This record gives sequence, C-alpha cells and structure tokens, in this order.
Amino acid sequence: MPLKAALSDELTAVTAGRVRFAEPMRLHTTMRVGGPAEVWAEPQSEEELRRLLAIADQEKMPVTVVGGGANLLVRDEGIPGLVLHMGHPFFHGCRRESSRLFVGAGLPLEWLVRRATQEGLSGLEFLAGVPGRMGGAVRMNAGTHDDDGALHQTGDVVRSIRMMDRQGQLRHIPKKLAGFAYRTSRLEGAIVLEAELELVPGDKEEIAGRVKRLWEYKRRTQDWSAPSSGCIFKNPSKEQPAGWLIDRAGLKGFSVGCASVSRIHSNFIINTGGAGASDVFKLIEEIRARVDRRFGVKLELEVQVLPNESEGK
Ligand SMILES: Cc1cc2nc3c(=O)[nH]c(=O)nc-3n(C[C@H](O)[C@H](O)[C@H](O)COP(=O)(O)OP(=O)(O)OC[C@H]3O[C@@H](n4cnc5c(N)ncnc54)[C@H](O)[C@@H]3O)c2cc1C
Repeated sequence: MPLKAALSDELTAVTAGRVRFAEPMRLHTTMRVGGPAEVWAEPQSEEELRRLLAIADQEKMPVTVVGGGANLLVRDEGIPGLVLHMGHPFFHGCRRESSRLFVGAGLPLEWLVRRATQEGLSGLEFLAGVPGRMGGAVRMNAGTHDDDGALHQTGDVVRSIRMMDRQGQLRHIPKKLAGFAYRTSRLEGAIVLEAELELVPGDKEEIAGRVKRLWEYKRRTQDWSAPSSGCIFKNPSKEQPAGWLIDRAGLKGFSVGCASVSRIHSNFIINTGGAGASDVFKLIEEIRARVDRRFGVKLELEVQVLPNESEGK
C-alpha cells in the first residue's frame, strides 16, 4: 500500500530530501538481492535520526538499520517500514585521542584500516579486506582468522559504544554490556553511532605490511569473483568449519537458479547474475538438509535475514 502523501512529505522534509520510497535493496547489498525498502532514509545528524525514529514510532512503522549491506540477505518481498542507512558523511567521523580512535558508525572499514595504519595504531589489521562499515562490524562482531590461525574480532578492540535506542535516547555503554560473542552481540535493536577503539601504537611500516599480507590472504582464500554476502553460515567448530562440511557434502558449485555455492570458498553463496532471494533461500535449505544428513550438524546462519521477526520491535 503506498504511503500516505502527508507522511511522505513529512519524511522528505525531516531529511531534506534524503529519503527514497520503494528503494530496491539489491542496490544496497553486496549480494545484489532484495526487494524494496518501503522508506529508505539517510539521516545527516543525530537530531534528524531522532526525528525519524519519532515519526516511525508515531506511525507504528518497523525500523531497520543498514550499514554497508555486506552481511545481509533481504527477502524478495522487501522491508516494510523505515530503513535507516548511516551512510551520510556526518557518521564518518574518526578522531584520535592518545592510542584510541572514536569511529563513526558509517565509516567504511577500508577507510578505518587505512587511517589506523597512517596513525601508526595497530589492532585493526584483521579488518583488511572485510567489506562494510563500523556500525555493522560492531553489531556483527566481525572477525577473521589470521594467516597464522589466530581469531581476531572487532569486540576485542572496542572500549565503549555510543548508541541511540528506538525511542531516540542516547546511551553510552562499556564493552562488557555489548555481549560480544562469535559473529554476534547483544546490540540488536540499538543504533550504533560511534565506537571507541583501544589500539596499540606500533611501527607504521610493520602495520602496513600486516595489512597487505592479510588483505592478500583474504583475496586468495575468499570468493571475490561475483556478488556475495561473505560467509553464509557460522562455523560450527574449528575442526569442522561450515565450508569444509559443505564441500564434503558434495555441494561445491551446486546451484539453484543463479545462486551458487562458490567453487573457491564453499561457505560463500554467489549471485552469478539475477538471482532472487528465493533462490538463495532454497539453496540454503538444500545445503542445511544435506549437511545434516551427512554429518548430523545443523548449520546456523551468519548472514542477517531482513526483515527478521525481532527486528524493529
Ligand atoms: C566478500 C565478503 C567477505 C567478507 N568477509 C568477512 C570476514 O572475513 N569476516 C567477517 O566477520 N565478515 C565478513 N563479511 C561480512 C561483512 O563484511 C561483515 O559482517 C561486516 O561487519 C558487515 O558490515 P555492514 O556495515 O555491511 O553491515 P550490514 O550488512 O549492513 O548489517 C549487518 C547487521 O548489522 C546491523 N547494523 C548495521 N549497521 C548498524 C548500526 N549502525 N547500528 C546497529 N546495527 C547495525 C544490521 O541491522 C544487520 O543486522 C564478508 C562479506 C563479504 C561480502
């Protein structure tokens, strides 16, 4: 049902035009799938964000936050209500105090890694080659295994988080309240505005060398040949990572429509051109069923499905 004209006008006025209606989400996800966001808004200040939340509350619209769209699987039906994108330069801040960086939720991770390297601050090298933005990396506790096998995660370097709740209230929480765990946090429902990161001063050349090495490692081991959302499933264990299980279940290259299990990294589903979310969901179910039959392991999704039942409530 189209939005009431008065509501569209109000949203347009609040955001000075940075709002779009029925915006295709495939334009905002790295997998290039997903139906329309009913309202797509890019606030340019915290005050604007608060006013958008107040309108959503008044109109009983669900609210969803999207960063770089690098870990999303958006249904073909699209996302009802308000989708907030923290992409405006207002949310790109990156300020140094001693060995700490205060990083805006909208800052692309690639820029963050470059800035930390220029500042001679170590601790973020593991994010080299991880697409997305700071808010998404904090919410997901994005992490990677080093080429020497050690696991590094965003939560390891977070000291505190500034965020806004759905009622527009600002909160500043220490790391221990964020509930960081493997590829998740307890921040669902909150809107991350800024993260305070505690880093370690180091030699710029050495940091740059590690960034280069890890970036090359990622390019070698992950599939960058076609659109994807990175790893689809969480790794059930270190001994039996999801990609290994999928591979051994004989699914490398297996396809539903234009959604295929990557031949380079079996935990990636790639969009070989024009896949719909329904193709991806069918493929996910097939993978789960075959891995369960063969190994008795129930794979859990890492990718965030939108809309999801608890989101925005
Ligand atoms: C090729 C490729 C390789 C990848 N490799 C890795 C990897 O090595 N390690 C890894 O961990 N991930 C990896 N990913 C996944 C992805 O890069 C990370 O999960 C990243 O942190 C997602 O950030 P984003 O800004 O794109 O978040 P989005 O995908 O936009 O959102 C992810 C979740 O975070 C929430 N969110 C986003 N912004 C905010 C905010 N400001 N406040 C509150 N919630 C928010 C969303 O609602 C959603 O639930 C890869 C993805 C691709 C495509």
